[in-house]
Amino acid sequence: MLYKHFPKSGALSSALGFGCMRLPLTNPDDATSIDETEAIAMIRHAIDNGVTYIDTAYPYHGGASEHLVAKALKDGYREKVLLATKLPVWKVEKREDMMALLDEQLAKLQVDHVDFYLLHALNKERIEALRKLDYRTFLDEAVRQGKIRFPSFSFHDDYAAFMDILDDYPWAMCQVQMNILDGENQATLKGIEEAGKRGIGVVVMEPLRGGLLAQPPEAVRKVYDAFPTHRSPVSWAFRYLYTMPQVITILSGMSTMAQVEDNLRIFANAVEEPLSAQEAELYARVKATYDSCLRTRCTGCAYCQPCPMGVQIPKIFQGVDRAALQEGASFQEGYAKVVAEGGGVEHCVKCRKCENACPQHLPIVDFLSAFHQELS
Ligand code: SF4
Ligand code: SF4
Repeated sequence: MLYKHFPKSGALSSALGFGCMRLPLTNPDDATSIDETEAIAMIRHAIDNGVTYIDTAYPYHGGASEHLVAKALKDGYREKVLLATKLPVWKVEKREDMMALLDEQLAKLQVDHVDFYLLHALNKERIEALRKLDYRTFLDEAVRQGKIRFPSFSFHDDYAAFMDILDDYPWAMCQVQMNILDGENQATLKGIEEAGKRGIGVVVMEPLRGGLLAQPPEAVRKVYDAFPTHRSPVSWAFRYLYTMPQVITILSGMSTMAQVEDNLRIFANAVEEPLSAQEAELYARVKATYDSCLRTRCTGCAYCQPCPMGVQIPKIFQGVDRAALQEGASFQEGYAKVVAEGGGVEHCVKCRKCENACPQHLPIVDFLSAFHQELS
């Protein structure tokens, strides 16, 4: 296992972090129905094999993730890891709410402190609202009371908003979306470099772009196959990130024990070294090939859910993109199933709640109308 130090604090973390937002379920249609036995076994197996960073958040699995993590970290496992959770900033209406929510989360996690406490999914609007509520004093006070060690934030917006937030507080860490396809998107590679210059450790989410990079289309496979060194697509996707000196930990939302095993194998052989010029060229070719195929660039993050009318936006967008990546494939049958389950576009009232919530700023309503016409 590759380990890296967070700058400033010096805290040592495994380069692979366990993201607890896609845990196995007993009922695939109920996000709260975590398969506890399997999920606990997976988390503990990862820790037994060197993972020292566990990431959860208030809303993951409809609130059930923090409860599950509490159980997984019993029997001495808490002491072996850096634990991260996130303040649901959208629930904060007044200053006292921040400490009340933190206390609620510590109780759910059954711990007296967390290591990293992140302001969740910050963007331009949210940081402005939090400034008015003096979030800095809250974070300072939470550190002083020993409830959190490292004040941090996670982020979904553009480069300008990222830089504004980066310079707003002496953060220990920022969690950003980064992968082979997103170098110019959201915080951008330039933003990651700026965080590094300020001594702010970077934790990466969406390393596989919602799974898209794990199952590349034929055209991308050919690009990988032509390269003299052979790795799996997942291994290439992680290598792109762990070779960046600013990136300390890469979160993987693991859903099966097989994924845990696969990730452990990849990180057992990971070495922090600069990419060769040939590798940089390979990543550029892979990105260009994906860009020429994808139609929505939806990551499946589900921030647009629930839609008040029940439209299954991530299912539709991911289905369309996956079909676009396979020659001759169509999402027509998949869409008919979504419609039969009541999640079709015909229910959309164009309220645009989803567009306001989408961190990728996708023109969701236009996409939905076009796909509905095409697939119905
Ligand atoms: S615009 Fe349509 S899909 Fe989006 S939240 Fe409103 S009803 Fe749902
Ligand atoms: S449409 Fe946007 S918010 Fe919804 S799942 Fe896709 S990327 Fe996430």
